[in-house]
Amino acid sequence: MSELRKFFIAGKWTTGSGEPFVSTNPANGEEIAKIAGASPSDLEIAVKGANQALKNSGWRDLLPHLRARFLYRMGELIDADAEKLSQIQMSDNGKTIRECRTMIADAARCFRYYAGICETLEDIVTPSRGDYLSIAVSEPIGIVGAITPWNSPALLEANKLAPILAAGNCAILKPSEVTSLIALEYARIGEKAGLPAGVLSVITGAGNVGHSIVEHPEIGMISFTGGPITGKRIAESAGALLKPVVLELGGKSPNIVFKDADFDAALNGVASGIFSGTGQSCVAGSRVFVERSIYESFVSELVKRAKELTLGPPDEESTDLGPLANFRHRDLINSHVTRAKEQGATVLCGGEIPKTEKLSCGAYYPATVISNVSNRSDISQEEVFGPVAVVLPFENEEDLLHQANDTIYGLASGIWTSDQKRAWRIARGLKAGTVWINTYKQQSISTPFGGYKESGLGREKGTQGMRIYMQTKAVIWAN
Ligand code: NAD
Repeated sequence: MSELRKFFIAGKWTTGSGEPFVSTNPANGEEIAKIAGASPSDLEIAVKGANQALKNSGWRDLLPHLRARFLYRMGELIDADAEKLSQIQMSDNGKTIRECRTMIADAARCFRYYAGICETLEDIVTPSRGDYLSIAVSEPIGIVGAITPWNSPALLEANKLAPILAAGNCAILKPSEVTSLIALEYARIGEKAGLPAGVLSVITGAGNVGHSIVEHPEIGMISFTGGPITGKRIAESAGALLKPVVLELGGKSPNIVFKDADFDAALNGVASGIFSGTGQSCVAGSRVFVERSIYESFVSELVKRAKELTLGPPDEESTDLGPLANFRHRDLINSHVTRAKEQGATVLCGGEIPKTEKLSCGAYYPATVISNVSNRSDISQEEVFGPVAVVLPFENEEDLLHQANDTIYGLASGIWTSDQKRAWRIARGLKAGTVWINTYKQQSISTPFGGYKESGLGREKGTQGMRIYMQTKAVIWAN
């Protein structure tokens, strides 16, 4: 049995007083860590520590260029430990080592980016209508609760912590109970970077711990990434307290191929858009719309490509698809596909849990392409969050926009065409927070990210991704 991993509250590592839980490696089902669970009294300690830090440590009022130093340091420390962190995320989550390395490098850049924003963010002098000066100043919220999912912990947690801290807040982070280890590493890195005690606490546990964070009256804001059902629950609880939230939720994103697209580029973009990260990506292009005249040829090449992808252990260089993050999730994906079959769908490839000796010990699932369904079918409407693409033909732009927007989600979308005017028309017609044109999943920390409709509320990343963790005060100054 492994040693109990402590969590970090108010500057101290503790075993807490909640229920411990186990983290397993989805590549082989082996236990990799036993993690202490937090209780409401542990949360009280974290909140008290954060309040003390806000009052006594000077964190809130630290000059921005001095606060930025801590973030630069955290970025450097992440880089220094990059290989260790990549290995931790890989064994906790199952992502390929290549993807983990990229993600850790991006996490370090995220801290540096927000250090830069912290140093340069300006207050605004607004036009006055009289003999006075009017200034809009941005001030921290106070304590921000961050709650994260399991699919990309290293990056999603950096995307929250860096701007929350840069804005002068204290953060209380609760990672997913499925992948808690990277968050504990960030606590260690924050401590090593010299963050004052209480500025960053990481508490571990299941949804009930997240719920206590949302309900806590002294936590001023909630930043959540996760599923839409949980997101709505959080919005309801926070709404009753008039507590601001930023919600990054699910998606069922259309990736659209017109007949005039660069065929090979579109094929690459569609395949990686759904199969990279074994499909466990909120922006996965899970509904592939193909113009009728090239539908047969495109789908047949997509299926060929899907069959060529290597499913295997995440630490092997040849692996394209690692395991899913856990066995329960693999079974859920399989049940989505089974139901689609029962409802008349055709599974063109994949669609079954592998039975080979090498793969049956882990939470593996192959690249799957499904056809012969309508856009209104369950498999086209429900977020599967796995390597499962639904292919759908379309007749013309009007038909395409109707089908593509006919979903509760609106997170991302992709367009493949060589017609620039059409690209712009469709981009403006899609109801989604991100539109990629002749590319897919291209991300930048400086570009705002978030969802339309039930895919979320508010935007992360970019300058506004820091302002969202601040409140505006108008100062009107007459002589
Ligand atoms: P989830 O909603 O089950 O859990 C997310 C987090 O919320 C976990 O830490 C969990 O413990 C916590 N939680 C659960 N119940 C809670 C409650 N009542 N109150 C407060 N916290 C609670 O999501 P998941 O299964 O971990 O992640 C998959 C989902 O995340 C997918 O829907 C995916 O699309 C979404 N996601 C969205 C983005 C984005 O940026 N839009 C990014 C990644 C993942």
